[in-house]
Amino acid sequence: MFSRDVGEFNEEITHLFSPVASPSVPDRILLGVGGRCICGALGKPEEVTLFLPCKVYALTRVHACEIELQACNACPRAYRHYVGPDGREVGIFNLNNKLLFTHDLLLTITLLPSHRLRLLSLHG
Ligand SMILES: [Zn+2]
Repeated sequence: MFSRDVGEFNEEITHLFSPVASPSVPDRILLGVGGRCICGALGKPEEVTLFLPCKVYALTRVHACEIELQACNACPRAYRHYVGPDGREVGIFNLNNKLLFTHDLLLTITLLPSHRLRLLSLHG
């Protein structure tokens, strides 16, 4: 019974992951235009930027990248909030400037029936 379930799971995983290729994830995710802080403040092109490490979760692997950030002048310094890139133009969703997810990964997860998602979390 259990081995049959694992076989079905493997078949489902192969089907889910083979037809969609992950987009190429850039080594550096640039601030560009449209970057915002969590408070809503926009980035300023004349301000200094810095690069910090981040992780981009894609369909088949996690990419160690760098993200371009700018200290937010609207938030108190003690909060250490940064203006970060939107990521939309490179197919990436920026959650919090540290954890980012490719759009194809999010699309796959949202299309999975809940019982398949439970299997993924058990085996992941
Ligand atoms: Zn802010």
